[in-house]
Amino acid sequence: MIARVTLELALRKEFDYSIPPELAQQVEVGTRVQVPFGARRILGCVTALAEESAQTKLKPILKIIGTTSLVTPKVLKLARWIGEYYCCAPEVALKSVLPEAVRHERAGWRERLVVRVLSFAGGLPKLPKRQQEVWSILEDRKELPLQELLELAKTTASTVRRLEDRGLVAVSAQVSERDPYAREQILPTQPLPLNSAQAQALAAVIAVMEASAEKRGPEANAEKLASTPRPEVRTFLLHGVTGSGKTEVYLQAIAHALARGKGAIVLVPEISLTPQTVERFKARFSSGPLQTLVAVLHSHLSTGERHDEWHKIRQGRARIAIGARSAIFAPVDPLGLIIVDEEHEHTYKQEEAPRYHARDVAIMRGQMEGATVVLGSATPSLESFYNCGKGKYRLLELPERADDKKMPVVRIVDMRQTVRVGKSIPIFSPQLKEAIGLRLERKEQVILFLNRRGYSSSLQCPRCGYIAGCPNCSVSLSYHRHEQQLSCHICGHHDKVPTVCPNQACRNPEIRYAGLGTQRVEETLCKLFPHARTVRMDSDALKRKEDYRRILTDFRVGKIDILLGTQMIAKGLHFPNVTLVGIIYADLALHQPDFRASERTFQLLTQVAGRAGRGDVEGEVFVQAFTPFHPSIQFARRHDFIGFYEQELGFRQQLKYPPISRVALLTLKGRNEEKVKFSADHIRRELDKLLAGWEDLIVAGPAPAPLTRAETYYRYQMMLRTQRMTALSRRLAELMQTQTLPEDVTLSVDIDPVDLS
Ligand code: ADP
Ligand code: ZN
Repeated sequence: MIARVTLELALRKEFDYSIPPELAQQVEVGTRVQVPFGARRILGCVTALAEESAQTKLKPILKIIGTTSLVTPKVLKLARWIGEYYCCAPEVALKSVLPEAVRHERAGWRERLVVRVLSFAGGLPKLPKRQQEVWSILEDRKELPLQELLELAKTTASTVRRLEDRGLVAVSAQVSERDPYAREQILPTQPLPLNSAQAQALAAVIAVMEASAEKRGPEANAEKLASTPRPEVRTFLLHGVTGSGKTEVYLQAIAHALARGKGAIVLVPEISLTPQTVERFKARFSSGPLQTLVAVLHSHLSTGERHDEWHKIRQGRARIAIGARSAIFAPVDPLGLIIVDEEHEHTYKQEEAPRYHARDVAIMRGQMEGATVVLGSATPSLESFYNCGKGKYRLLELPERADDKKMPVVRIVDMRQTVRVGKSIPIFSPQLKEAIGLRLERKEQVILFLNRRGYSSSLQCPRCGYIAGCPNCSVSLSYHRHEQQLSCHICGHHDKVPTVCPNQACRNPEIRYAGLGTQRVEETLCKLFPHARTVRMDSDALKRKEDYRRILTDFRVGKIDILLGTQMIAKGLHFPNVTLVGIIYADLALHQPDFRASERTFQLLTQVAGRAGRGDVEGEVFVQAFTPFHPSIQFARRHDFIGFYEQELGFRQQLKYPPISRVALLTLKGRNEEKVKFSADHIRRELDKLLAGWEDLIVAGPAPAPLTRAETYYRYQMMLRTQRMTALSRRLAELMQTQTLPEDVTLSVDIDPVDLS
């Protein structure tokens, strides 16, 4: 037997190694190994076993890392698909399926010393006082962690060692699990009686779960895995307004999977992975007959915690994995259900190689493993809704709020009316100002939203026109008053704030700041409502990871009156006493050079508005806008997703944008603009040769990217559109392999990009 190994090196290739007899029993597909490579020792993963190799003289595997193979053959197959579809090297794809904390040899279990009473014959010998004290504590408890024992007995380890020498106790190392939620008091919850829309949705999901369980006996499974899966309707799209009770449907569907002996993966966007969300899942499954551990995977955990949470899943002790994007690779087995909440969220797309979209990986994994997939959202992506129309997904709808709460009234404020000649535009319209005052008087809470941090978005000299720009990127620097600096939101570069215009020929002392950010809104708020307790929540304000949690808790218990923030506060939060939501500048996202700008604006407005009126008092939303009649704003006002969808689809159809087609974005990057441009032209010619005669292909570019320069690199782009993306990916992979570019120019391919900047 020989093992085919993918090394943790960017080689786009597998290598054969012989398996020494003493390891023969332990090496299987998915085993992590250390192998010799040239003069080095490299880590890798066994991706296949074979009878013989084309190579003679194989080197042997040196050792095995870990006791169980970490990557199951199923996840391995998924990684292979990612490599192919997203046009990246297999080792890059493979790397993404194991968390860093698990991949590295050094992060292991935490061990602690435990003292245990031994049985002995005859009577207890007479002991010195200290030893006697320790013994009396232990005799009762039989076993105690050493540290705890020493604290109880107020003594040192040497006393315990003496007892060990006498053969009365044994001290040994035991694995102690890190539990990130150990200090949480979580009260169990019971399933709620469903309303009829929820009940219908749940019944549909369960019916499909049952059918797929029947169809796939163990043999059928093996057979299916061996061939490429056929797309089938197993996937559901659960479209329910905010507060319609989607989560309750997820919870009961998961309970069903558990009852059938299967596990579940729940994906939520990183930003809504709040303690509140996690708690809802833990509370439901932490007790009762189906009791199981819920493992949480996300970037805010320590390395050790991540290691332990992951292994709880691998060992089958936790059968529910909840986490952000990469939790889609959690080794839940057998897998019955995958939930992708807020499926429209862009954070599901990874912005570096492998540039996968977790929602699409979820659908593929569901097909491969016979698991049912439920995508949920109040504002589904155009892609997913379109797939329902085509019969690829099944649409389930929850049109009303579950608790009979009314949807908030949305009022659009035309900010053009606030413009006065010679005066700057106010941040707050009279209407919003009055509404805030009123809610504060009634002791209700207010959320204000502006998706831009800092004080002003640019600094400009009115005399010579100088604009403070980033030396590394083609953007202007934002002014941050709290930190007293100018900073770049792309690369993080910062400068001191000048007191006069930096243009040597000008030196004008009157510099003007333009465009507002959260810091400036905060300042104005404090002037307008000096007695209100106002807290700003954006990435500048949150320095430590506990801050986020602390602010949310303070808000919940009423220690804060006005919460002001960026998209951090847009999602998933549920505060019954919030009766007013104000959106300071709704057009902000509309002015981006991206065909999804309208869709994003619609989603954001709907999501933010959904934070209002989740309690007993009806909610109200103020949307301040300079283009109040824009369809995104008008449809959001009426909570009319279908209306928005239909008009937006018309636009996409006209221009052949997704979901009508699929996009591949090619980006060339380098420090020398001429070389980048030249290379881009060269790639374009090669593409034309390679793809000559491709029927539905549209190629645009090369052209400078909207963000022409970022972190000192010039960027040129080409956009390819086709309906046959799997085939196109294959050709692009060929191109990547055969092309030689100047050394300092790189080409990257992004399939189904969400960020076009
Ligand atoms: P969504 O996930 O769609 O935003 P949630 O699941 O957060 O909605 O539900 C909103 C509120 O309605 C929650 O407080 C939840 O407990 C409650 N709820 C959900 N389903 C029901 C039900 N069938 N009966 C009563 N209340 C419900
Ligand atoms: Zn910069």
